[in-house]
Amino acid sequence: MIKKILYAIWLVLFCVFLFMFIKDTNFHNFLVMIENRTFDMRQSIAVSQGVKNHNDNIVIIAIDDASYEYILENYGEWPIHRDLYSKLATYIEQFNPQSIVFDLMFVKSLNSSTQADEQLVNLVKKYPNVFVAMNFDNQEESLRKSPDLPKNLALQVNNNSEKVDFSKNSYSNCRKIIDGLINSTKNIGLTNVSRSDDGMLRKMPVLLQYKGNLYPQLGFRVGLDYLNKVKNADTENLQIDEHSNLIIGGKKYFLDDDGSLILNWYGPNETYQYIPLYKLIQLADGKLSDLDIDFNGKIVLFGTTAASLFDIKSVPVSKNYPGVEVQATYINNIIDGTSIIKLDKPITAAISVLLSIITILIVLCENSAIVGALATLTIYLVYVFLTYFVMRYFNIWLEIIYPFLIALSTFVAAYIIKYLIKSKDFEQQYKLATTDGLTELYNHRYFQEQMKQMVDSSERYETQFSLIILDIDFFKKFNDTFGHQAGDSILRQVALTLKRNVRASDIVCRYGGEEMSIILANTDNETAMSTAQKICNRISQKPFRLPNGKDASVTISLGVSTYPHDGTTPSELIDAADKHLYNAKNSGRNKVGT
Ligand code: GH3
Ligand code: MG
Ligand code: MG
Repeated sequence: MIKKILYAIWLVLFCVFLFMFIKDTNFHNFLVMIENRTFDMRQSIAVSQGVKNHNDNIVIIAIDDASYEYILENYGEWPIHRDLYSKLATYIEQFNPQSIVFDLMFVKSLNSSTQADEQLVNLVKKYPNVFVAMNFDNQEESLRKSPDLPKNLALQVNNNSEKVDFSKNSYSNCRKIIDGLINSTKNIGLTNVSRSDDGMLRKMPVLLQYKGNLYPQLGFRVGLDYLNKVKNADTENLQIDEHSNLIIGGKKYFLDDDGSLILNWYGPNETYQYIPLYKLIQLADGKLSDLDIDFNGKIVLFGTTAASLFDIKSVPVSKNYPGVEVQATYINNIIDGTSIIKLDKPITAAISVLLSIITILIVLCENSAIVGALATLTIYLVYVFLTYFVMRYFNIWLEIIYPFLIALSTFVAAYIIKYLIKSKDFEQQYKLATTDGLTELYNHRYFQEQMKQMVDSSERYETQFSLIILDIDFFKKFNDTFGHQAGDSILRQVALTLKRNVRASDIVCRYGGEEMSIILANTDNETAMSTAQKICNRISQKPFRLPNGKDASVTISLGVSTYPHDGTTPSELIDAADKHLYNAKNSGRNKVGT
């Protein structure tokens, strides 16, 4: 009984503990972090199997270490003169690219090149397919006044999702880019990224909030332009449905809570087509005849890949990954519609329940705990493999950690319950095997076992114990007069009276027929005699209710023996008690024999 209560308390505490910790945000964050790690693993494994299929329309003009050195050598300083960018862009424009994107920030004008800034402004004015970048931050206005941005830079979105909240990516200021640029084109996007708590870059915001308006991320702006021009998608009326899907041209793009796309990686570094910047310069300068590249219809991305220029990020598939490639991946995800879809919470809950049901079935059907645990583990592993393939081929992120935790808890709880049921069964069988059905006293077999044990322990610890054997007087006659049913009822009432008049540690048994016995641990003869006398008195004074409603009186005769005085084996002690009982019978009954 105490054991059962302890188990119940343990189970309740376990559940409360689990619930408290999962509710606690730190623990929740910890679980999210592990879940993210499983995402990274799935992405890395997929990528290690070879570069995934992707749209081949992106060419990166890489400002790599070689280009950095080339520029220092040939132009004498870094950053590169702005007129060079306009010159290169103009050169590429002759081949009709889809777009030219500067994933670079043209901050503050350089003294030496105000005219170069003008050229850049003229470039974006002239070519509607040139995109430039800016960046939001939260600097105080005492450092720089936060500018009002032109209306045409903002995007409208009809958000019907309760989860997607763009204000999570909200900024109060932005870095100043060169004069005139923000008023010359609407093709300006942000380069802000959205990092997880562990610093890993797994998603990209689509829209960022600034002064109450939403502004697009650079890659999003470029992707929208592509979908509009190449796939005729309506990119003016952006909708987010109630399942957090952004809908562009009939295609659904799942957005995370902060309004970000979860990136799906195609491969490690250098997955995209690269042209080092210096080679493009040589080409434009006529120093190189051909580059074996066709810019027609391509999205040409200018960006830094040089480690020495600090534009390196940590992403799930690579420790160091250039920002421009993150941008390329992002644009590609939008063009191909392959960004990651996270399923609604009820689906994760349904998966957890399904795993839990399988776990319970295994626990119920399998007797061996080890085989049960292995079978359950196998099911989880199959599930984990499944989540990998679902991500690899359907771009769906099935959660691993929460379903695992829930199913694990079910496994533990199911085993505890199974154990409790088993122990209850055992208790019932034990009770059946050791008690007498009529009187609910211990039976003769139990009595014999206890006598042996009592003799053994009394011998070892040199203590005494006593035995009382009692027999109902003239019971045969009682049966004859009132019937067997009445006799049975008397037997039960006598048994109850005995139990109520001895200590909890005393063992009351039905010795046989209408004879009963009591083993009194650590009890000397004197005490046992007075207990026997007390019982004798109680029985004789007590009115016994008969089934016919009348009362009858009953008397008993008792015999007492004590270890080691009357014997040192069970049979010697039983004989001695029997002898005293016989004496009581012979000397008038209703007494303790001597
Ligand atoms: P004494 O005072 O000498 O003990 O007389 P007695 O009639 O009680 O004699 P004895 O102990 O030999 O009689 C045993 C009787 O107890 C026989 C039987 O009718 C009755 N008896 C034994 N077991 C049961 C039982 O389970 N139920 C009922 N109703 N009677 C029982
Ligand atoms: Mg008898
Ligand atoms: Mg009798």
